[in-house]
Amino acid sequence: MKVFHGSVEGAVSEQRTSTFTGVVWADPVMPATDGVTINNVSFNPGARTYWHYHEQGQVLYVAAGSGWICLEGGEPQAIRQGDTVWIGPNERHWHGANTKNFMVHTATSIGKTVWQEAVADTDYLRSAD
Ligand code: MN
Repeated sequence: MKVFHGSVEGAVSEQRTSTFTGVVWADPVMPATDGVTINNVSFNPGARTYWHYHEQGQVLYVAAGSGWICLEGGEPQAIRQGDTVWIGPNERHWHGANTKNFMVHTATSIGKTVWQEAVADTDYLRSAD
């Protein structure tokens, strides 16, 4: 057992650029442990991940704001503060803020995350409401 108090001691917020579109900051909640990573991730309006999947799945908990989650082949779904999302192993998807609001989620990722290409504006804006 290990107890992690709030965030990784001494960690600095990291701006994510290579696998995200828009302004995204991440803070580690705990260091990668037994294949599990937990990050608090803040998305500016319009910001989102690239397409990706998690080899053993991911839990998202929306702490603030509102945004979208989209599985490949499906329609983007609105998510907002208080929502929890389970994304199964190897399900290709993206997540991020919507166009009008920021979103902060806690992402618990299990196993390796495999990053792919950027989400095209045309795909992202399918969800515009
Ligand atoms: Mn994900």
